[in-house]
Amino acid sequence: MRRRYFNKTLITSVAGFSLPQNLVSKSSNSKKLGIALVGLGSYSSKALGPALLETKKCELKAVITGTKQKEKIWAEKYNLNYNQIYNYENFESISNDNNIDIVYIVLPNSMHKEYTIKALEAGKHVICEKPLALNAKEAREMIEISKKVKKEIFVGYRLHYDPYHLEIINICRNKKFGKLKTINNGFGFKIGDRDSWKLKKSYGGGALMDVGIYAIQAARYCSGKEPISLSAREFKTNLNKFKEVDETIKWKMQFPDGITADCKTSFSSNSNNLNLDFQNGFAKLSPAYTWRILSGETSEKKLYFPRVNQQALHMDGISNYLLNNIPHNNVGGDEGLKDMIIIDKIFESIRKGGRNILI
Ligand code: NAD
Repeated sequence: MRRRYFNKTLITSVAGFSLPQNLVSKSSNSKKLGIALVGLGSYSSKALGPALLETKKCELKAVITGTKQKEKIWAEKYNLNYNQIYNYENFESISNDNNIDIVYIVLPNSMHKEYTIKALEAGKHVICEKPLALNAKEAREMIEISKKVKKEIFVGYRLHYDPYHLEIINICRNKKFGKLKTINNGFGFKIGDRDSWKLKKSYGGGALMDVGIYAIQAARYCSGKEPISLSAREFKTNLNKFKEVDETIKWKMQFPDGITADCKTSFSSNSNNLNLDFQNGFAKLSPAYTWRILSGETSEKKLYFPRVNQQALHMDGISNYLLNNIPHNNVGGDEGLKDMIIIDKIFESIRKGGRNILI
């Protein structure tokens, strides 16, 4: 799979920052790929549907929902005919719909594997929301099938298209402030809804799977390396609300060259930051991981980038890769697998009382 981060021939600098090329240049191919959204819950309604009104390389061509009332809402808002609305019973018939090129799985985490495989077997490429699966074993099975049917899997890693994160990675790769020494980051929020599937183990709930994965991703793409070992501890203050899933986890990852990452995730306290210490300076983002607005600074200056639609850039980046072979920003299924391997090791370390686990 071809990738891009900072290939100067593919990234164009606009007003002091780098934008994916597909935003600023006309491609030879004006075709748009058709996207089908599976699961019309919060993220589809608030982020992906609206983003698909802004995309230039792909468009909404179908939805899959089990809720009758949503059919009319989505048909009207997105100008869909009723033959573009599928349900979970007739899902497999998308194989006959040539207008669908990519199926975007936006379901509870425990359903990612099943629906990714169904979509691949229906002959479609897949974007699957994070976390790619419940564990590394599932992620490997999904990737195996994608290779067999020669269709690709991508993960909903929208921050790989955000200019703040691209700038931070640039600083790391170019060693602007010297060698990266430590990473300190966390993503957490106070979860309200007690009935949410995010508090249920069978659905793949828990803070680590939901938002801690962003801290893992950021540590990996800032260091540009894979961790060698890690240790993790879980903390619970509300044994009733969090009886099935993790409430707060803190973990430390050791990377090659002595780089360390101290990370935190929580469903009971707010954090949203990425702090990097280099030999000769610092860089930080806060908020770092949301999709509405980010902010950041370095030891040299305050960072300022105009707001982008991360989801639109992400889906356009993937579509441009599929249409025009322009490398995507490292959002393939293999990235999802690498995160799942680390998540498995974090849970293993917690089970073993915080022991340092080799990866
Ligand atoms: P949600 O609960 O709001 O939506 C899930 C949808 O799945 C609902 O429409 C629900 O009806 C549907 N569904 C179908 N079958 C179901 C079943 N058997 N049980 C429960 N629901 C069923 O959740 P969400 O917040 O939209 O999250 C969906 C996925 O998107 C998750 O994997 C989550 O991690 C991911 N997500 C990603 C981001 C991001 O920034 N990338 C943000 C939010 C959520």
